[in-house]
Amino acid sequence: MNPNFLQTPIPYLKGVGPNRADTLKAELGIETYRDLLHLFPNRYLDRTQYYKIAQLQPSGADVQVVGKIIHLKTVEQKRGKRLVATFVDETGQMELVWFRGHKWIRENLKINEPYVVFGRISKYGNTFSMPHPEMELLSEHQQGVKIAMQPIYPSTEKLMAKGITNRVVGKMMQQLFIESKGQFPESLSNSILEELRLISKSEALFNIHFPKNQDLLAKAQFRLKFEELFYVQLQLISKKLLRKQKIKGMPFEAVGEKFTGFFENHLPFQLTKAQKRVIKEIRNDLGSNAQMNRLLQGDVGSGKTIVALMCMLLAIDNGFQACLMAPTEILASQHYTGLKELLGNMDVKMALLTGSTKKSERTLLHNQLENGNLNILVGTHAVLEDKVQFKNLGLAIVDEQHRFGVAQRSKLWHKNEIPPHVLVMTATPIPRTLAMSLYGDLDVSVIDELPPGRKAIKTVHRFDSNRLKVFRFIKDEITKGRQIYVVYPLIQESEALDYKDLMDGYESIIRDFPQPEYQISIVHGKMKPADKDYEMERFVKGETQIMVATTVIEVGVNVPNASVMIIESAERFGLSQLHQLRGRVGRGAEQSFCILMTGHKLSEEAKTRLQTMVRTNDGFEIAEVDLKLRGPGDLMGTQQSGMLNLKIADIVKDNQILKTARYHAIQLLKEDPRLEKEENIPIRKAYSRMMQNKTIWNYIS
Ligand code: ADP
Ligand code: MG
Repeated sequence: MNPNFLQTPIPYLKGVGPNRADTLKAELGIETYRDLLHLFPNRYLDRTQYYKIAQLQPSGADVQVVGKIIHLKTVEQKRGKRLVATFVDETGQMELVWFRGHKWIRENLKINEPYVVFGRISKYGNTFSMPHPEMELLSEHQQGVKIAMQPIYPSTEKLMAKGITNRVVGKMMQQLFIESKGQFPESLSNSILEELRLISKSEALFNIHFPKNQDLLAKAQFRLKFEELFYVQLQLISKKLLRKQKIKGMPFEAVGEKFTGFFENHLPFQLTKAQKRVIKEIRNDLGSNAQMNRLLQGDVGSGKTIVALMCMLLAIDNGFQACLMAPTEILASQHYTGLKELLGNMDVKMALLTGSTKKSERTLLHNQLENGNLNILVGTHAVLEDKVQFKNLGLAIVDEQHRFGVAQRSKLWHKNEIPPHVLVMTATPIPRTLAMSLYGDLDVSVIDELPPGRKAIKTVHRFDSNRLKVFRFIKDEITKGRQIYVVYPLIQESEALDYKDLMDGYESIIRDFPQPEYQISIVHGKMKPADKDYEMERFVKGETQIMVATTVIEVGVNVPNASVMIIESAERFGLSQLHQLRGRVGRGAEQSFCILMTGHKLSEEAKTRLQTMVRTNDGFEIAEVDLKLRGPGDLMGTQQSGMLNLKIADIVKDNQILKTARYHAIQLLKEDPRLEKEENIPIRKAYSRMMQNKTIWNYIS
C-alpha cells in the first residue's frame, strides 16, 4: 500500500464529495482516510431483538421498540425546554425526549406512523423514557439489510440533516476497505502482539467495523483499546522519565535542626501512618537529584497542612526558601495563622502576601525575599507576580490544585534558574485509575486516613416539604452555640434563576430566624470582594450564626464551630461538590450534620448521588461512584480532559486493560528507552507521528 494512503483527503473517497466532506469535517473532525478509519462505532445493534414497552426494565441498556407517536409536546422547565413524545405500543406507553434540535425533529417526525425506536432506557417516576432515540420508520426498517451486529457510528443532528445517516457512514467505510484492500500497517511490536495474543491491526480494524462474530469483535476491541491506552501511557511515562533525567532538582540532603526541632518539640499530635508515609515519599524525592513534581491527595481534614509545613522546614534546613499558595485570600490568611500557631516560638521567618497587602509592607517583603531573610512566603496568586523574586526558592506548594491552572504552575518554575520542587495538594480525591491517566507524568502521594477521634459527619436527605422540621433542628443547634451553613447551587447557564432562589431562600430564613436573636451572613458571587470578606469575617468570628451562600465557600474555609451544612437543591450538585461542601463541617469536636434538601421529583442518577452521600464519608469511594456516573471527561472538567479524549477505551470500564498497557509501556521503556530495537520500529514510527499531532488515533496507523 502507498504509505501515504491514509493521509488521502476524504473528498477523494468515492461517494463523499466536497459537500459531505465539509459536514464530516465540521461535525466529526474527519479530514482524511485515517480519520474515517478511526471513527469507531459507539455500539452494535442486536437487531434480532424487539422489546414490548411492558417488558422494559430501567437497566440503562439499549433496546429496540416498535410503536407509534400519538402526541408531541414541548415542556418548559426551569432549566430549559424539552420536547416530549408519547410513544405507545399495544402493551403500554413511554416517552421519547429531546433536549436539543427541536425544530428539526418537529418537522420530520410523523405522528401515528409505526416507528422502530432505539436507545437507552431510563425511568423518571413511573414512566420509562428514551432520550434522543434513534428512529426509523418501520417500513424503511423492514427494507434495510439485516445484519446481526450492525455498527452504530457517532452521529449528530447536522449529519442526519445532511443525509449522512448511519447507513451512509457504513457505505463509506466499506469503500475505504475496498480501496485499501483491508491492509493497514501494524503499530505494535511482535513481542507485545504475541505476549498478549493480540490480533493484527488489519484484522482488528476490519472486525471493529464489520464484526464477523461476537468473539472477533471482542478481540478487535481489546486490541484497539490496549493500543490506545498503551500510547497514552507511553507518552506520559516518557514525559516523566525525561523530566527526571533532564531537569535537575536541588537535592535536600540534610535533615536539620528545623525539621527535627519541630518534630521533637512542636508537633501537636502524633502523625497518622499515612502522613508519615507521605512525608517519607516526599523526602525521597527531595533527596534525589531530580526535580520533584508531586501531587498530594488527601481528603478534607486529612491533615495536609502539617505535611506541607514539614516539607517547608526541610527546605529551610537545606538553605532554601519555600512558598505556599492558596486560591483565595481567606484561605491564604488561614494558612498563615495556622502555620504561625504550629511553629510557636521557632525561629522561622514567615510572611503573608495577598492582593490586599499594603504597598509599604510589600516593598519590605520583596527585599526580605531577595536577600534571603524570609524563609516562608504564604500567599495567593500575588506570589506569582514577576516582582516577587526569591533568593533561592527550593520548594513551592500549591494548595487546592484545581483552582490553579497549569500555566500558573509553570510560572513558579521561572522564579529560579533551577526550578523549585513542586508539591500540589488537592482535597478532591481522584480515583487511582484516573490519576494514573491524568497525572501519569506526576508522582502521586495519598493520605488515605483521617486523624483519629473524628466524629463522622451524619448525613441525611430531607424533602423540601419537611423544611419546618429542619429549621427547628437548626434552632436547636444554634441554641447550643453552633453555626450553620445554608448553600445554594449556582450554575452559570441559569444564573438569574439561581440568584432568585438564593434571595428567596435568604428572605425566608430571615423571616424564620429574626434579628436581633439571629444574625445572618450572606455571600455570593455578585458581591464585591471586600463585602464578601466582611460577611465571611463576621461568620468566622462567630458574630453571625447562619451563613447563606452560593458555592463560593466550597474551597477550604475553616470554621470549626460550624456544625451543620444544609445544601439546598442538592440534586443539582455533583458528587464531588457535595463532598467538598460537606467537608466544611465536622472540623470541631462536636457532632456535625449535613442535610441534603431536595424536592420529590428526582432522577435515578440524583438518587444514586444522594444515597451515596448518605452512605459514606469516604472521598475515594465517592469519587469512584462519581466517575462511574459521569465518566472521566466531565469529572475533571475540560481543561484536564485532553489526555482523556479517548476514542475507544474507557478509563473506568477498561481499568484492567489500562493497567496492562501501563505495565507494558514501562517495560518497553526500560528495555529500549529510545525505541531503537528493530522490532520496536513500528512503535517508534507510530509514536513519533503521534507526538507531532494532538490526537493520538490520527497517527497510530
Ligand atoms: P486538610 O488536609 O483538609 O488541609 P488540615 O491540614 O487542615 O487538613 O487538618 C485538619 C485538622 O486536623 C487540623 O485541625 C489539624 O490540626 C488536624 N490534624 C492534622 N493531622 C493530625 C493528626 N495526625 N492527629 C490529630 N489531628 C491532626
Ligand atoms: Mg487544607
